[in-house]
Amino acid sequence: MTFDDPTPLIGLEIHVALATDSKMFCPCETEFVREPNTQVCPVCLGLPGALPVLNRRAVELGVLCALALDAEVYPEMQFERKNYHYPDLPKGYQISQLAAPMAENGIMSFTDDDGGEKEARIRRVHLEEDAGKSIHLPGEGTLLDFNRCGVALAEVVTEPDLHSPADVRCFLEQLRELLRHTGASEVRMEEGELRCDVNVNLVHNGEGTPGRTEISEVKNLSSFRGVERALQYEVERHRQALRRGDPLTHETRHWDEEREVTFSARSKEESHDYRYFPDPDLHPVRIPRAMIDDLQERMGELPRARRRRLSREYDLSSYDADVLVGGGLADFFEEVVAEGSNAKAAANWVMGELSAHLNAEDIGIDELPVQPGQLAQLLDMVDSGEISGKIAKEVWGAVVQQGCDPRAIVEERGLSQISDDAQLESLAREVVEEHEDVVRDYRSGKEKALGFLVGQIMQKTQGKANPQMANEKLREIISREGCE
Ligand code: ADP
Ligand code: MG
Ligand code: ZN
Repeated sequence: MTFDDPTPLIGLEIHVALATDSKMFCPCETEFVREPNTQVCPVCLGLPGALPVLNRRAVELGVLCALALDAEVYPEMQFERKNYHYPDLPKGYQISQLAAPMAENGIMSFTDDDGGEKEARIRRVHLEEDAGKSIHLPGEGTLLDFNRCGVALAEVVTEPDLHSPADVRCFLEQLRELLRHTGASEVRMEEGELRCDVNVNLVHNGEGTPGRTEISEVKNLSSFRGVERALQYEVERHRQALRRGDPLTHETRHWDEEREVTFSARSKEESHDYRYFPDPDLHPVRIPRAMIDDLQERMGELPRARRRRLSREYDLSSYDADVLVGGGLADFFEEVVAEGSNAKAAANWVMGELSAHLNAEDIGIDELPVQPGQLAQLLDMVDSGEISGKIAKEVWGAVVQQGCDPRAIVEERGLSQISDDAQLESLAREVVEEHEDVVRDYRSGKEKALGFLVGQIMQKTQGKANPQMANEKLREIISREGCE
């Protein structure tokens, strides 16, 4: 790498709303509602004398999140008060974690836009509560909505292991998939369930990590597009400053969605001292080993591991494994194979006909009126030559409409392939007699002429003749007659 081409170092602080029914320290509901200040109580409003009670579910979901990121969950954690004054923070402090977080030292691997495998280390995963929302009405002042106050969050902090805005987008998209898969969060982006602070700075190869003075942090991005665009802007801003020799400072910036620029909010030199201290209302929390083991077990196989296993176990391309797992089709696929189908044929059918049907009807796989065993039966009939691939599609059309067994449809409609030797022999004779000129062409070396004759047999049988056998019969008759 040349001096003109410095590498971006990017680290993330990601806030994820955990999928709890109630808030982290009070029974208020968390369901997103439009009516402001309807989901509040003395605890989340910070009224004097109100005491927080930790939501067990928030701890479980936080642990799930940490386990999904392969982080080490500590046997004991401590909540601390992060003190600052802000209108959307009625208590004057946020309950968070600093010295004794829930988990540390994780790792997340992800696939970049070119299909490359990359990873980012996870520095820590801790629990904290959300703040409320300030709504600025131009000319009318600021309104406050405390519904979000006290909602359970997991904060995921990465090491600065990401090196491009596109990689950050891939990382976040795959993190969202992981969190949804484990059930730790529903990650509804439009409801602000994943918000991200991005830290950026550029280094020249071999120069090592420069002083922290050059890092800029863009706060509170709530869409993947916003993250990517803001980072593109920041990387370019740093690049130009380095080229011109302008000083860069350690500062907090905001992203202006409309103008697509970042702007400085405050320099870190004048940043707050939060005066963290252990929250005297909340005991240290012990997380029993048994609970961690239990969650680990219930979490089951994670999507990336499953992709790798599918492509290894069934000899599928990594593209096919991606489509099956990413499209939520892997369970169905594996059940079809468990019923005895050939894996490649099952994968093709699930990704092809089945997935096309789901798209056309705009339904999920759980709404499909077909059992894996029924598809296995259909594929088995193709495999054994009982029906052709073309007839199979017709049968499938009836199966998805009526939800009945493919075999019943084949029998009812008389769709079985004609594999009867005598019947094919007489059909082939008929065709040979009717098309003497084509037979002559074939004898004189035109291989293609045989295809036409097979086509004639297919026409006479509405596509039901076994094409392989029809082909053999024709060759047999023509060569026999040639010798007579
Ligand atoms: P803190 O904010 O607790 O002092 P750091 O500033 O070290 O801790 O880390 C906060 C975030 O900044 C992390 O996501 C980390 O990955 C990121 N970060 C640390 N060093 C760099 C760097 N040189 N360039 C970009 N991001 C960095
Ligand atoms: Mg920070
Ligand atoms: Zn409350």
